[in-house]
Amino acid sequence: MRSVLPGGDPPPAHAGGAARPPGQEPVVQVQGLVKRYGRKTAVDGLDLSVGAGTITAILGPNGAGKTTTVETCEGYRRPDAGRVRVLGLDPVADAAALRPRIGVMLQSGGVYPGARAEEMLRHIAKLHAHPVDVGSLIERLGLGGCGPTAYRRLSGGQQQRLALAMAVVGRPELVFLDEPTAGLDPQARHATWDLVRELRSDGVTVVLTTHYMDEAEQLADDVAIIDGGKVAAQGSPEELCRGGAENTLRFTGRPALDLATLLKALPADTVAAELTPGTYRVTGRVDPQLLATVTSWCAQHGVMPDRISVERHTLEDVFLELTGKELRA
Ligand code: ATP
Repeated sequence: MRSVLPGGDPPPAHAGGAARPPGQEPVVQVQGLVKRYGRKTAVDGLDLSVGAGTITAILGPNGAGKTTTVETCEGYRRPDAGRVRVLGLDPVADAAALRPRIGVMLQSGGVYPGARAEEMLRHIAKLHAHPVDVGSLIERLGLGGCGPTAYRRLSGGQQQRLALAMAVVGRPELVFLDEPTAGLDPQARHATWDLVRELRSDGVTVVLTTHYMDEAEQLADDVAIIDGGKVAAQGSPEELCRGGAENTLRFTGRPALDLATLLKALPADTVAAELTPGTYRVTGRVDPQLLATVTSWCAQHGVMPDRISVERHTLEDVFLELTGKELRA
């Protein structure tokens, strides 16, 4: 896999020494974070841990506290209570030491509208000790034709790609990407996903917020679902989809099977129904044992299930189970 951090510059000599291998102390550790805006509690005792060299996706309904949490980690907001450590540093007290080591892609872009794309990147590169080669980065991100163009004249997708370039040009150890693919077309989304994966391959830790469940499923090693300013669940997409959520098994056979006898063989909370004549759905904790019980019941009753399938719950199902379907203010 090619590197998103091109150029002949030497690897950075970070204050913390050589890049930490995955699995060591968390790169981001948030404990009991509280952040209020006046009387509004945006973050309410939030705990979050991000492992080195991983991609962590933060999901949550509108107003859940994602941006506030990320901005606190970036040092842009001061916590009202709790402890935040990023690369072992306090993001506010140690801002001067931390800033050169992290890359930040803001939702708004955070760019002066008149700034030219290449000028902007070269300026940011100069602020870092071991920046990426700007020319290569521009080419790599397909911004070749945009160099002399003012930020406000770039298309939305080009602005997003420039914001991503700005976040990585300093060759950071950790990048925060706030909704990096919001409003992008499918090509640009996939290009951004590729870049994020390449960042991980380069040993960069990535923390991103997103409303796209498929983005989290595709990219993230770890997903934190935030609701009401707290983490409602954290784990790999597989863990979250497995844990707690009910799954569905469907099979077809002859019509009007006696499902009461099937249910007697299954765990008490399992539900079985004939949806259309000869089409059956079993809902519950669908595991290998349940599958074996259903097929053995079919064998005992002379039923040949010509189609049988297991539907795993998606991250979106889990998200809605945890956060509900109510629209947020
Ligand atoms: P979204 O998905 O809509 O971007 P979010 O999960 O990122 O939402 P935040 O932006 O962190 O949520 O906002 C959390 C809560 O804090 C919301 O109710 C929001 O209105 C409020 N809030 C955020 N920033 C401010 C601010 N500067 N002043 C007052 N209230 C704020």
